[in-house]
Amino acid sequence: VLVAIVLVGDELIEGRAADSNGTWAARRLTEAGAEVQGIATVGDDPAAIARAVAGAAALADAVLVSGGLGPTDDDVTREGIAEAAGAPLVEDAGAWAAVEASFRRRGRVAAPVQRRQALVPRGASWLENPTGTAPGLRVVVAGRPVFALPGVPTEMRDLFDRHVLPALRGLARLEPVEVRRVRTAGLPEAEVAALLGNLGPAGGARVGYYPHGGEVEVVLFARGADAALRADRAEAEARRRLGDAAFAVPPGGAIEDAVVAMLRDRHLGVTTAESVTGGLVARMITSVAGASDVFPGGWVVYSDAAKRGSLGVPADLLARHGAVSPEVARAMAEGARARAGTAAALATTGAAGPGDLAWAGGAPIPEGTVLVALALESRPTEVHAERFGPPRGTVQRRGAVAALDCLRRALLRRGP
Ligand code: ATP
Ligand code: MG
Repeated sequence: VLVAIVLVGDELIEGRAADSNGTWAARRLTEAGAEVQGIATVGDDPAAIARAVAGAAALADAVLVSGGLGPTDDDVTREGIAEAAGAPLVEDAGAWAAVEASFRRRGRVAAPVQRRQALVPRGASWLENPTGTAPGLRVVVAGRPVFALPGVPTEMRDLFDRHVLPALRGLARLEPVEVRRVRTAGLPEAEVAALLGNLGPAGGARVGYYPHGGEVEVVLFARGADAALRADRAEAEARRRLGDAAFAVPPGGAIEDAVVAMLRDRHLGVTTAESVTGGLVARMITSVAGASDVFPGGWVVYSDAAKRGSLGVPADLLARHGAVSPEVARAMAEGARARAGTAAALATTGAAGPGDLAWAGGAPIPEGTVLVALALESRPTEVHAERFGPPRGTVQRRGAVAALDCLRRALLRRGP
């Protein structure tokens, strides 16, 4: 079943509000086994709504409209849909009784202006809205069912599940999509895609890539007969090809979830010594519930004086190599590990920008440089140099992900 979505609202096309109804409905439809033809957005203008609805009905098996069903003059979706259906608006006694009842439930009386909400295109039916006042509409345009729902997200969602999904199931058998997610870090999107090239047809699943802040989420979709089996096979093949880049966390888990889970399984602790990331690594670790089992605390050591005073980084090391050097990154990690008494310590130092970082002792440090050091018991300290961003926030975020990924990979190599 192919469904077209039409979103209505001046606030949406003027950039005053972000859509959530379209994304929510698209996801719900896709997961239920329907296909979304597209999402169009129009303002509170009857002619534009009529054009969009007529166009959507020509392209899809059903149309979902959200917004503009309220009682005020700027709510003109019923006029637009009536125009698309070529039917005049008439007051529906049942719809009016439902509007009145919704006011009575709140201990109030429906004002005359609310009568607009009882208007339906002749021949159309109205959809009960138990959590709000505006009934939805079901209208036939060019032989296709059009469902108009209120814009308030809670009401839209409730009416969608109550009226739209069951009606779509009546049009055709929907085959739910099987979705599998594999999160990765440490590889750019293009490299992840190169590793997984040809996976789609071979694995019997469609592959999507969603990069966010240094991590790439790979989503595998399978539909139709044996969908679960094909999705499982595609996931296994994707994990095999991605190797260490893939983390084994439940769907939706981020790198911090993976790292905290791995530390907990191994009864290990980690501390942090952060310069360029300014505490973001600690913030990410502590965003995981129960992180205190593995994270006693850490340091934000931004100045040279703090690196010396809090972590014992030798003054001559700072003078000779500068704060953004492998030597200092290593000394930060080792100093933090010794002071916290944890099995592991992560250190970050770098130049977040904007611009390169001047340093009296030598050449400027290029903007976006991040050094990550990992001190881990019974292993030599490792230091990695990376370049990220700009802008500043991206350098910091990608640097923090790189630090956590360095620990994740070291724990993988170390074994369970
Ligand atoms: P009501 O009867 O409550 O007035 P309505 O059908 O008239 O509902 P709108 O007036 O278009 O709906 O919008 C009501 C509220 O829902 C507004 O706060 C609006 O910003 C929000 N809203 C509308 N469309 C969307 C959307 N696509 N995504 C998220 N919120 C939306
Ligand atoms: Mg409104």
